[in-house]
Amino acid sequence: MSKPTITLLAGGVGGAKAAEGLAASRYADSTAIIGNIADDDEFHGLWVSPDIDTVIYSLANQIDRKQGWGRVNESHQVLNELKAFGEDTWMTLGDLDLATHIMRTKLRYEGIRPSVIAQRIAQRHRVSIPILLPTDDVVQTQVKTDAGWLSFQEFFVREQCHPDVLEVQFEGAKSAQACPETVQQILQSDVVVIAPSNPIVSIGAILSVPGIQQAIENTQAYVIAISPLINGKTIKGPADKLLKSAGLSVDSMGVFHCYENFLDAMVIDSSDESEALALKNTGLDVLVSQTFMQSIKDKQSLLEQTIDYALSCKKLRVA
Ligand code: GDP
Repeated sequence: MSKPTITLLAGGVGGAKAAEGLAASRYADSTAIIGNIADDDEFHGLWVSPDIDTVIYSLANQIDRKQGWGRVNESHQVLNELKAFGEDTWMTLGDLDLATHIMRTKLRYEGIRPSVIAQRIAQRHRVSIPILLPTDDVVQTQVKTDAGWLSFQEFFVREQCHPDVLEVQFEGAKSAQACPETVQQILQSDVVVIAPSNPIVSIGAILSVPGIQQAIENTQAYVIAISPLINGKTIKGPADKLLKSAGLSVDSMGVFHCYENFLDAMVIDSSDESEALALKNTGLDVLVSQTFMQSIKDKQSLLEQTIDYALSCKKLRVA
């Protein structure tokens, strides 16, 4: 029997952990990952794509595991030199990492599609799982705060998520064209897994590209999301703040509402088990498990459990 086709929607840190779990799972050779490009920005004339690189570096075991982003054994000579020139250096870009950004920028200038560039960066790191982009166009998350609109990296890195968020917009999304191979991948999948990523600025940004959410709504695939909340809290990052700013509750139900047009099931942490009944009452299938991923075993186990559960629920629905 052929293996089921699995597609993972992934942001940065939570997405990369799920990607590693998928790569270590028994489903690894029939999967693809759709990454987030709306955190992208230009620094020192170079195009930086933090979420895509976090996924690739993690899969290549080249990630700085303490930080969850950037390269391991990194140095910062170039950044220190830029600082001496008086450049803003709040975006910490290491020397090895900068080589990726130089290559990406060079290839973009040559007119190569960003999707193909992402594949080249993955190949350089011997990552064999296809990394797909929602679009080859530029879509950038903008965050409205008391102090006005900020780019996502200004909000996330420079301001360390401190300002209150009034609104989020995905600039360029309305006119962006979905990559046809990404839409095709979703349509031909058996299971679509939504990583425990930020539902607003990571997954929401992917879904903002016209055609992507429609493909997820139209696919025959079973769609399952792993909640990024554990004991009602985010592990890291502003998901709580952003859920609130969207008028949603900071709990499994709030995450569900981000995906309610297409979701079949949710995986929630054992510490949030009391929320399972309310989710089931909406018609969702709910898997309660340990969702905190530290070791590669945790990651593999959670992704295998998630996909096994999705496939068994899908079978029951068809029967
Ligand atoms: P970012 O772009 O780097 O912020 O990364 P993501 O959007 O992919 O992920 C951020 C979310 O991942 C946060 O809301 C975290 O709570 C969640 N997260 C990180 N590690 C884990 C984990 O091990 N388990 C679960 N369930 N969520 C996680």
